[in-house]
Amino acid sequence: MPESPKKPKFNPALDNYAERASYRQIKCELFTVEGFSRAPVKTFWRVPEFKLGFDLGWQPWEFMGTPRYFVSHTHMDHILALPAYVARRRMMKMEPPTIYLPAEKVAEVRQLLGVFCRLDQGALPCELIGVKPGDEIDLSRELIVSVHKTYHSTPSVGYVVWERRKKLKPEFLELSGDEIRDLNLSGVEISYELRFPRVAFLGDSSARGLDENPAMFEADVLIAEMTRISSRRNDGLKKGGHMRVEDYVDRREKFKNQKIIASHFSVRYPQREIEAEVRKKIPDMLDGRLVLV
Ligand SMILES: [Zn+2]
Ligand SMILES: [Zn+2]
Repeated sequence: MPESPKKPKFNPALDNYAERASYRQIKCELFTVEGFSRAPVKTFWRVPEFKLGFDLGWQPWEFMGTPRYFVSHTHMDHILALPAYVARRRMMKMEPPTIYLPAEKVAEVRQLLGVFCRLDQGALPCELIGVKPGDEIDLSRELIVSVHKTYHSTPSVGYVVWERRKKLKPEFLELSGDEIRDLNLSGVEISYELRFPRVAFLGDSSARGLDENPAMFEADVLIAEMTRISSRRNDGLKKGGHMRVEDYVDRREKFKNQKIIASHFSVRYPQREIEAEVRKKIPDMLDGRLVLV
């Protein structure tokens, strides 16, 4: 007699695995980048060591532990999971998150959350902070985030996360510990700040967004976009506001990054085609630093 089919048992380990398989984990020298992006489906990234993420187009369960997100723009594939992220943190009794986003869109996102509050019959506590190019956000003594102008079809920004360190000014190097302490107490500025760009997030933008923000070429890791990989006419995408594989070829000497993560490929390209097309145009994958996610 044939066995009756077994009812699948709930298996949290397997379930977690399935979630984890839906994004990539890229180990870098000082930190890890986790996430995934496809246009126009979903974009979501985070850097666990810095306790911050970029864009909320999707939200794997374990990403809710990240307390602050920097949103590049409000296209649906970049904010779809925003209400779920806020709701999950409330449900799990975590601190309300802080979400930075283009200032022009704060009021509408607040309205969106208001509607979800009514639909879901629960509060959605979070801090929404509008940003504009040129802003700097102090996260801690060590970390600072700068906001950059990018070029897309709706108000958009990119972000650079900097690590900063204080160094003693050279004129005080010869002094004793006591002398330095006394100077410091008397109000003399004894140190200067050094900044190191660690992660840059371009969001959706044409290559002009990179060209006008040179720090993005210098960051240890650049998370950029490569929406177009072929000149196929019928790729269903609007012209402009995105990067093409040729933009990377034209700028190959400018990338000083340890890793350049290219993502946000149009979902119309099959995975195999992405790899093949990019390797055809950039055979050395920018000295092996180009990572396709
Ligand atoms: Zn997008
Ligand atoms: Zn977009």
